Amino acid sequence: MFLNDLILKPITQLFFPTLCHACSNELLSNEHLICNYCMSTLQKTNFHLVISNPVEEKLFGRVKFENATSIFYFSKKSKVQHLIHHFKYKKNIALGQLLARMMAKQLELYRWASDIQVIVPLPLSSQKLKWRGFNQSEIIASEIGVRLNIPVNNSDLVRIKNTSSQTKKSNLERIQNVQNAFSLNNLKAFENKHVLLIDDIITTGATIESCIHTLNQVHNCKVSVLSIAYATDL
Ligand SMILES: [Zn+2]
Repeated sequence: MFLNDLILKPITQLFFPTLCHACSNELLSNEHLICNYCMSTLQKTNFHLVISNPVEEKLFGRVKFENATSIFYFSKKSKVQHLIHHFKYKKNIALGQLLARMMAKQLELYRWASDIQVIVPLPLSSQKLKWRGFNQSEIIASEIGVRLNIPVNNSDLVRIKNTSSQTKKSNLERIQNVQNAFSLNNLKAFENKHVLLIDDIITTGATIESCIHTLNQVHNCKVSVLSIAYATDL
């Protein structure tokens, strides 16, 4: 701890220091939610540097889409897992917004990003929304929308099926579980538009596939996908 920190920190922080949500080390006074070391070493995918990436490879031949990417790698016990856990399950919205700002910066590196006309968060089932209290993809979508000045549509793509958790299912079970899970309130909302779908973690791609399939029914609707992270070991 620097002398500066001792002087400037409120007394409560000396007894209850604020910790980095990625590594649990104490934060310095100029750090917020994530320490500078973790900020610079988080595992980014840098998929903007490659012609094809594993997220696109997962979706090829299954649905019609333009581009798909994830910003971070997600693996068990990784810093990215800790961060997403704090955001989704401990309801740390400010942390989600910070992740979204990092995502927006990365998204700007993709040439196709300037073509996006509307951002659509992956809807949660009403049951899950009630349980969690917020839709994590909506938080991400809204912050990216503000940063890149792109409108967000939260209402016209809806989840009509209360699907059970995907985590312990086989690939086939995951696909069956989310089939016909989504519907559109208003087809016109996405006609002749390039939509950016926002998801949190892409694992097998079954949920996002089902969602793109629904949007593929809209006339002249182009779909791209952006997720916080791509899971490498689930
Ligand atoms: Zn840290």
